[in-house]
Amino acid sequence: MSDSVQHHDHGRTFQPDIEDSPYSTHQLMAEALERLLIEKGVFTTEALRRQIELQDSRTPAQGSALVAKAWVDPSFRQHLLEDVNGAAEAVGIEAGDIPIRALENTVDLHNVIVCTLCSCYPRQLIGLPPDWYKSRAYRSRMVHEPRVVLAEFGTEIADDVEVRVHDSTADLRFIVLPMPPDGAEQMAEADLAALVTRDCMIGVSVPKGAGE
Ligand code: FE
Repeated sequence: MSDSVQHHDHGRTFQPDIEDSPYSTHQLMAEALERLLIEKGVFTTEALRRQIELQDSRTPAQGSALVAKAWVDPSFRQHLLEDVNGAAEAVGIEAGDIPIRALENTVDLHNVIVCTLCSCYPRQLIGLPPDWYKSRAYRSRMVHEPRVVLAEFGTEIADDVEVRVHDSTADLRFIVLPMPPDGAEQMAEADLAALVTRDCMIGVSVPKGAGE
């Protein structure tokens, strides 16, 4: 069987190849470092590929499970507020070495996270950040006009609720602990976890049915 390439209609749209944009200094430095480390036998190409695959495979499910457990288990909630990494480890979730702090939403306070510098994000618990989280518009506007940006996400925060914006860094990451939905006491933990979306843990959204 011979190889073949299916050509579709190229006359309509043009998407630039990613190679078309010039390499940045940091991309060049990262690639040079990567090649050196492989050359020196510090790690292999296969090990690096596996690590990237592992990073890419992380989803918000780990974070959702932690939030749901915190909603039904007050002592776990306390543990999570004191030490996210330790609380996660206690239930078999690997949260990594970088400290993560849980920001608890209340009837008076709504928390939202941003990284004004780049894209620091609790990847171990909620996966890779969405493109908008890395955009300049989000990084700058969330600081200057958080209520306006939140409204654009469909999240209206009442005037009497304080909005607090937290700037993530390379050394400290955050995850928002949203308010539980009404009737959470009667719900199963798995059903509660299904309500905790990625955006709820970033703080640009709230769980369906939560009293905010
Ligand atoms: Fe960052």
